[in-house]
Amino acid sequence: MNQIFLCAVLFILGGCATVPKSTTFPEHKPLPSGTEQVKITKPYKILVDPGHGGKDPGAIGRTGLKEKEIVLDVAKRLRDLLWQRGFDVRMTRDQDVFISLNGRTEMAARGKADVFISIHANASRSSSAKGFEIYTVRTLSFAEKKEQQRKDNYQLLFQSLHMKKDDQRVSAIVEDLLSRKKPLESQRLAEALQQGVLSQGTIKDRGVQTAGFFVLRNTLVPAVLIELGFVTNSKEENLLRNTAYRQKLADAIAAGLMRYVSLK
Ligand SMILES: [Zn+2]
Repeated sequence: MNQIFLCAVLFILGGCATVPKSTTFPEHKPLPSGTEQVKITKPYKILVDPGHGGKDPGAIGRTGLKEKEIVLDVAKRLRDLLWQRGFDVRMTRDQDVFISLNGRTEMAARGKADVFISIHANASRSSSAKGFEIYTVRTLSFAEKKEQQRKDNYQLLFQSLHMKKDDQRVSAIVEDLLSRKKPLESQRLAEALQQGVLSQGTIKDRGVQTAGFFVLRNTLVPAVLIELGFVTNSKEENLLRNTAYRQKLADAIAAGLMRYVSLK
């Protein structure tokens, strides 16, 4: 499947939506084996989204460890690793502040992110539940596809691409392209991230699943939501408190992203 990164201005030529000549359409390549280092040749924009924050602590462990603290720390570690590898990385928050779910998806649209990665920690009634999960968006209903936040985000994206306001044809084409691309690309991203986790060897992998989380429904680009582990599991809460384990989690996600971009 060819990829189109909307970092270029679209325009109409002969009645067709057109992109500049310099736009590249790389061929699909299979997942590489091993964890080879890949030089980033594109200005990939990654928006890292540490969940919760401020008045919203998220899940809280038995000893008081808060999800908002864990995910912010791991997200900062991930940001630093990705910076070192040449990614253009932004964060929806880099402090203990509350940001609405709407606002998080708007940042992805306004900033023309190529990839959106939301980071969370899990909770369960079962104290034995443990492990790392990756979610991509499930199939959306007709009503969900018409959700107001999606419409708002398309408008923000079109503005950031300097598209003409009334150009319905181009808008429809871009919406169609993005909506077709997102589920497949999100799945490829999730599988690459899972490989990154497996390559670490000691992180329990619970696999790739689908869900209808707001930030997955309303972002327009490939998006995943990661659950780092369960704060409600005493052993895992201890691990999530440990800085070496947090670094390992960030390393795993960064390794997965490197695998993902190596497909381009
Ligand atoms: Zn959460």
